[in-house]
Amino acid sequence: MIILAAGYATRLRPLTDTWAKELLPVCVRPIIDRIVDAVDEVGEVDAVHVVTNSRKAPGFHAWAEGRDVVVHDDGTTSNDDRLGAIGDMQFVVDNAGIDDDLLVIAGDNLFEFSLAEYVAFWRSKDRASAVAVRDVGSRELASQYGVVALDGDGRVIDFVEKPADPPSTLAAIAAYLYHRDHVSLIRDYLASGESADQPGRFVAWLQQRRPVYGWIFDSTWYDIGNHEQLLEADNRMRAEAGLPERDAYSPPRRIVTLLAQSGHRHVTALPVAWSAWFVDLLLPRRCVACRGPASGLCSPCRGSLRPLRPPQCARCAAPTAWPVERCRECAGRRLAFASATAAFAYDGPAVAFVHAWKERGLRHLAPLAAELVTAHVARPAADVITYIPPDPVRQLERTRHPAQALAHELGARWRLEPRSLLRRTRTTERQATLSLAERRGNLRDVFTATQEAPRRIVVVDDVYTSGSTAHAAARALRGGGCERVDVLTFARAIR
Ligand SMILES: [Zn+2]
Ligand SMILES: [Zn+2]
Repeated sequence: MIILAAGYATRLRPLTDTWAKELLPVCVRPIIDRIVDAVDEVGEVDAVHVVTNSRKAPGFHAWAEGRDVVVHDDGTTSNDDRLGAIGDMQFVVDNAGIDDDLLVIAGDNLFEFSLAEYVAFWRSKDRASAVAVRDVGSRELASQYGVVALDGDGRVIDFVEKPADPPSTLAAIAAYLYHRDHVSLIRDYLASGESADQPGRFVAWLQQRRPVYGWIFDSTWYDIGNHEQLLEADNRMRAEAGLPERDAYSPPRRIVTLLAQSGHRHVTALPVAWSAWFVDLLLPRRCVACRGPASGLCSPCRGSLRPLRPPQCARCAAPTAWPVERCRECAGRRLAFASATAAFAYDGPAVAFVHAWKERGLRHLAPLAAELVTAHVARPAADVITYIPPDPVRQLERTRHPAQALAHELGARWRLEPRSLLRRTRTTERQATLSLAERRGNLRDVFTATQEAPRRIVVVDDVYTSGSTAHAAARALRGGGCERVDVLTFARAIR
């Protein structure tokens, strides 16, 4: 798939003088992160290509580090020598040698529809391409967009870019699915001398020659073109997250200070500042435990992680003098899970690792965590893999919550289907600040199963502390029909 991010966003100046529009945070997270997350939902996407220009490329390269994304610099430096959205599509197709079906999304689109549903619709059509379409309700509003007319079967029969007299109120948004046979026609389109700007123009041309279908969605969608739209989208997402709305778009102040301290002169000159991920991507990669030069965890620190080994408690994995079914720590407690397994003792570098992963949201640590876990823990006998869901407020701060990211990474390695099966019923106090007795009370009925639970489930979390979270989660899953829940964590507190 391709994310188009090579525009110069002149309507968002001065914000975009120094920073890419697609990397602007909307309610804490960059717009493009939200797109990448949506793409992660679609299993068939092999590679994510981001095309940008030479001015924005350094920012995108920094952003892409540790992510499974390829950044293409189209070599242009101003609005005057731009390749245009369609020119950029061809640029990536050539550069990456793409000879496959292609999903193309403009990097300034904020949408909440399910890409998986969109892809399923498109798959139901034979050798066709598709465009996502939203009914904007009025012809006046529609005249600002590419407007499509559909036949009874959903096939596009007319497509006009910004028409004075729109044929319908259906606006085409910059999210396209191209059949591989149609991808090769981009070259023909460009060769015919048509405008390389505005991705919709290729669809307008294509629908006269090949079948193109319109997939209608009705959920929220923003195209971030100017300051008003950016502020509106930011406020809307802030409101949904329970954060106060603002009169003007601005980023968190804490980060400005951090950036000033980091000594990046070009950065301190920025009119705006960014969330924690941004600081991490600017600073050189260091070992998260000893700060030595390394990405993630250096090998000496890796070597001093303490794998948990028998003799252990069969139920909760606490180290014991000899193998036992229940240990002093868990005997007499009702535990809804069948077993809890952890890869490492929660001490030494494991503490620093988990802290960096959780508190600083270092996304690139998830694959490393999974690699370390699979080196010490055998694949559990389960039907699906799930995770302890984050608190909604904390979720906002990260692209992907550690437990969720670890479940996905482990699922891929063990061929276990990752599924989101649990939901929090309320925000809880941070467990770490509570006594043991309070912890147990704090979590009563805090989780519910979101759907009928499969028979055997493994639940992933970062750290096993008192077992209360694991128990509460397992209880909810068993209430949802699951027969056996096993718990797996990266680390375990040892008392
Ligand atoms: Zn180290
Ligand atoms: Zn035990």
